[in-house]
Amino acid sequence: VASVRSLALVLRTWDVFESSTVAHLFTRELGKVSGLAKGARRLKSPMQGGLDVLGVSDIVLLHKASDALDLIIEAAPVERFEALRRDLAALYAGYYVAELLSELTDFHDPHPRLFDAATVTLRHLGEPGLRPLRVFRFELACLRELGLMPALDRCAHCGAEVEARGASFSFGLSTGGVLCPACRPGVPHVATLDGSSLAAIRALASPGPLWKGLDLPPAARAPIRATLGAVLSHAIGRRPRLLPYLGA
Ligand SMILES: [Zn+2]
Repeated sequence: VASVRSLALVLRTWDVFESSTVAHLFTRELGKVSGLAKGARRLKSPMQGGLDVLGVSDIVLLHKASDALDLIIEAAPVERFEALRRDLAALYAGYYVAELLSELTDFHDPHPRLFDAATVTLRHLGEPGLRPLRVFRFELACLRELGLMPALDRCAHCGAEVEARGASFSFGLSTGGVLCPACRPGVPHVATLDGSSLAAIRALASPGPLWKGLDLPPAARAPIRATLGAVLSHAIGRRPRLLPYLGA
């Protein structure tokens, strides 16, 4: 069996046996993996600190065939996100990042760009003013990288251009994004978005630093929070556990 080395974000861990740990990792090279780290909790384990939740580690993994757990044979801490230790709001946002990766990705389905988006997000959760926007950006990165991105510019049904002007827009939560007035009737699970919220979601979804110029006070963030939360809940099949702790 060949071993694989990868950077990995530790999503969750469980103590097993006397001194071992099972960890869910989101690795850059292999995607989500579930691994057994034998003796990881021994006092002098070389993996000390390498399996701390929400840390990034350099891991070496032995991939087992079939449905057996992979073996984690090395785990060395590489990056700690200090803001998560001193700021509860940042910690909840960090757990939310881990929950989305855990719930939305499949085992052994790599998404390196999503790994990079997660680490950038975790690095910046200590900035209270930008934190909600960072979380929106990460949610949109998940949707984009996993092929779940809702249509924002054109009607999800007919492809007609939908301009983000005017009072309100229909946003199909299960049909993949904005709907033109002609396609709206009869579609279930439709939310209503005002024009400025739709324009803000477009800016947040765009590459580049455009989103940093957004002026989004809490009242302006609430409809975006509700829409992205609903889209992700639909994708996961239930409401993310950490969603209520994010605030708007
Ligand atoms: Zn249409």
